[in-house]
Amino acid sequence: MDLSPRFPVEAARLEALRRLDLLDTPPSEAFDRITRMAAALFRLPIAAISLTDSDRQWFKSRVGVDHDTIPRAGAPCAEVAETATMLVVPDLLHHARYRGSLLAAGGIRFYAGAPLVTQDGHCLGALCVLGHEARAISDAERAALSDLAAMAMAQIELRHALGRVDPASGLPNRQQFIEDYQDLSQDCPRGEARLAALVSLASPEQACNAVRALGAPWIDEIVAEAVDLMKASFGCDTTVYHLAPTAFAFVAPRAADPIGFCAELENWLRRRAASTTARFVTTARIGVAPFRMRVTLAGELLHDLHSAVQQASDQGDGVAMFSAERDAAYRRRFWLVEAFGAALDGAAAGRKGQLRLVFQPKVDLADGACTGAEALLRWRHPETGDVSPAEFIPVVECTSMIRATTNWVLEAAMHQLAAWRAAGLAMQLSVNVSAVNLLEPDFCVRVVDGLRRHGLPPGSLALEITESALMQDPRRATAALQALHAAGVHLAIDDFGTGYSSLAYLQSLPAQVVKLDRSFVRDIERDARKRSLVATMIALSHDLGHRVVAEGVETDAVAEVLKGAGCDEAQGYLYARPLEAEAFEAWVAKQREQVEQVLVLV
Ligand code: C2E
Ligand code: MG
Ligand code: MG
Repeated sequence: MDLSPRFPVEAARLEALRRLDLLDTPPSEAFDRITRMAAALFRLPIAAISLTDSDRQWFKSRVGVDHDTIPRAGAPCAEVAETATMLVVPDLLHHARYRGSLLAAGGIRFYAGAPLVTQDGHCLGALCVLGHEARAISDAERAALSDLAAMAMAQIELRHALGRVDPASGLPNRQQFIEDYQDLSQDCPRGEARLAALVSLASPEQACNAVRALGAPWIDEIVAEAVDLMKASFGCDTTVYHLAPTAFAFVAPRAADPIGFCAELENWLRRRAASTTARFVTTARIGVAPFRMRVTLAGELLHDLHSAVQQASDQGDGVAMFSAERDAAYRRRFWLVEAFGAALDGAAAGRKGQLRLVFQPKVDLADGACTGAEALLRWRHPETGDVSPAEFIPVVECTSMIRATTNWVLEAAMHQLAAWRAAGLAMQLSVNVSAVNLLEPDFCVRVVDGLRRHGLPPGSLALEITESALMQDPRRATAALQALHAAGVHLAIDDFGTGYSSLAYLQSLPAQVVKLDRSFVRDIERDARKRSLVATMIALSHDLGHRVVAEGVETDAVAEVLKGAGCDEAQGYLYARPLEAEAFEAWVAKQREQVEQVLVLV
């Protein structure tokens, strides 16, 4: 019998029961002790803590019965749950309602059940004792049964509260936030616009460093301090929830408007900064997110709040309002990390899949001959299609996957280079390397080992490192470059001109090539300032002993200017786009023919 749709009281009772997360949980000694006491007190063989679900009585604890469920229909405990009062049936065989019940059929004659009532008045079921003989019940026994039921209820609510309260702050936790959020929605008009805030006392990195330096009590200290200030500042009508060790959330009062609310939170941050006595200073951030009652799910609101905190941190602000646009960028980043990881796993396992290399020729500006090629990584996702390395490489560089990525690129490039050399196409191949790769202690050893395995002379490989990458940790980067140089590997400074490196530093690098960034080359024929800048960069690089390659050459006019300025090589759509291996071979063959024809004509 499912009463819930017709009886709102019953629906609320069932909701209360389910929220306690008690149904179908394993037996527990704390409850068994109470049922054993009940049976002993009444000198009866059977006792149970029986919870009234929509269509069954489920026994959280039982003595003298094997099964843990009986149908709700015809069970006296169901009557206790429905009436929330004690029920005593001295003899089931003489009771109009239970004479024909399953219990009576099973030889039960006596029943007494005391209601299990929650603090907010919902009756969950009964603590019951049963016997095979009819008997009466004294007032003292009634009182004892009520007491035992109250003990069982205290146990139930204590357990529930323990899972809902953060022991460090005594504040309700994330689970409770989700439950209360659902309750809050019940009382408000559907779609009502409200605001919530998430206070993060420290970034995960700061928290980690502080705990490392000062031990775990540091967290308790800053939490206690912040909780006191929150209680004093946000008033007793606001329930603050402790969501994570250093994160708190609350819903703004109904009247709060976004600008005023954010200003209030900024003030709170200032007050906290001024009053804190914590020895390890952290930057607290607050994310604010709007939501709609009974429309926004709790999980969605929490997501938006975390995203807003992230945004505050990225912008260096104390308080940030959730922005769907920024959130989309975070989600995309997250997706990229996940999806690229899967692509890399497939590639590393040798499956022909989402990753491949393409090759863009470099040509000598003097005679148009191909001087080599740059290997460029390509990623084709099975559902979303091509993703540009300009988008995914910077994301991957922030993860540990960059090591495996460069490994894969190097391995694939060397494999191709060896195949080309075996087929009579000897040339130099450049591979892009990230700053973090240079900081790997075994990077040089791995490169040299790869060259040996593929039978390649070290000079057939060039590594391109962006100027800005070199500037992140110049000392270690220089050391790594020197080791690679000593091993005979060629080196190029990529995107030259964009990294603000000092000339003294450039001079100390053992690079053979500098690659002028595309931004200096574009429209050079129309821009006199750019022309003189590029001419100076080329002269300077030559003085330092580097060859100069111009990137992104798209037109003859640009190529002519570069040639005039003394640039050695060029790379760009004018000559070829990045090509698949076979197309690259065909391009080289055609290019050779053209160069030879020119030579013959000359
Ligand atoms: P980059 O190393 O400076 O590579 C040159 C980029 O310019 C390539 O973009 C190439 O396709 C593009 N390009 C070449 N000629 C022209 C032109 O004439 N006009 C224009 N507009 N663009 C041209 P791509 O392949 O999208 O790569 C972008 C960046 O991603 C690369 O810049 C490099 O920094 C990075 N990257 C690519 N592959 C790898 C890799 O295997 N490892 C690492 N660490 N980074 C890579
Ligand atoms: Mg490059
Ligand atoms: Mg470049």
